[in-house]
Amino acid sequence: EEEKHKYVKGKKLGEGTYANVYLGHLVTSPSTLVAIKKIKIQAAYTEGLAPDAIRELKHLQELSHPNIISLLSVFSSKDQNLNLVLEYLPLGDLEMLIKDTEGVRYGAADIKAWMGMLGRGVWWCHENFVLHRDIKPNNLLIAADGEVKLADFGLARSFSDPYRIMTSNVITRWYRPPELLFGAKHYSGAVDIWSVGLVFAELIIRTPYIAGDTEVHQISLICQAIGTPSEDVWPGVSKLPEYTVPEPVTPVRGKDHYLATFGTAGNEGVDVLMGMLVLDPRKRITAREILEHSWWSSDPKPTKNQDLPRKG
Ligand code: ADP
Repeated sequence: EEEKHKYVKGKKLGEGTYANVYLGHLVTSPSTLVAIKKIKIQAAYTEGLAPDAIRELKHLQELSHPNIISLLSVFSSKDQNLNLVLEYLPLGDLEMLIKDTEGVRYGAADIKAWMGMLGRGVWWCHENFVLHRDIKPNNLLIAADGEVKLADFGLARSFSDPYRIMTSNVITRWYRPPELLFGAKHYSGAVDIWSVGLVFAELIIRTPYIAGDTEVHQISLICQAIGTPSEDVWPGVSKLPEYTVPEPVTPVRGKDHYLATFGTAGNEGVDVLMGMLVLDPRKRITAREILEHSWWSSDPKPTKNQDLPRKG
């Protein structure tokens, strides 16, 4: 109850679908800036998000890692709104950098640095049995020191109980893996890895790689870009509740195709990307395997934080 008196709310920083975000600072230390995210509880409730969000937020407070946004405090205000006090991340997000093709130039070493930070953040979530479930460039915020941080844990939840039935209506469509598009009710950290793969691809080509207008369109684009999910490459897929794929079946793309499109990432970077975009979630690379990959020790070395490109 005294949590809300520890912070002073300042100017509005931005507005999202479910929240208004304000700049704030500690009463006792005006130079300690924070972001106060005021969740529009009504909007969240009608979308069915609020009960889960509130429950899960509590354990996100314990998820402390340099590549995960810190949740400093949670309190409700008198208007019944939920207020999240978050680490203030002033340098925007990866989407802004990707889109600013005129103003921001970056190369293989920069992409490797960003992917390393993203990989470590996701690894820490999964190590602690938390799925993020909404990884996309606009949820990867940049700190003053250049560190990329996973943010927007509104949809995150624990997967400590593997038999718990989960909703498949998560993850923004373009970053949503095939198992969710087919309505899987039991899923794993592999859902986040698929999204990470699409962020990696987008960092390279600077445009969303698989941008469907509808779920059906998204599946057909996945079949074209990656290959058709079939029993041959993914045993059991045809038994998923909403399994449908267009005819004819397209073979899974080989390394030559990835090298032609994503060659900037280098030979080993392309291996990592292909591992992330494996159709069968059980065969997809894990966060731990990503961090152990030889890509990190091959040239170029990841750019140091202080030398990373920033928005102009
Ligand atoms: P959305 O994800 O729909 O963009 P959010 O509610 O997450 O909406 O955030 C709205 C805006 O507030 C963001 O675009 C960003 O400009 C700002 N913002 C959010 N979180 C922070 C933060 N931790 N530090 C600084 N600015 C933030």
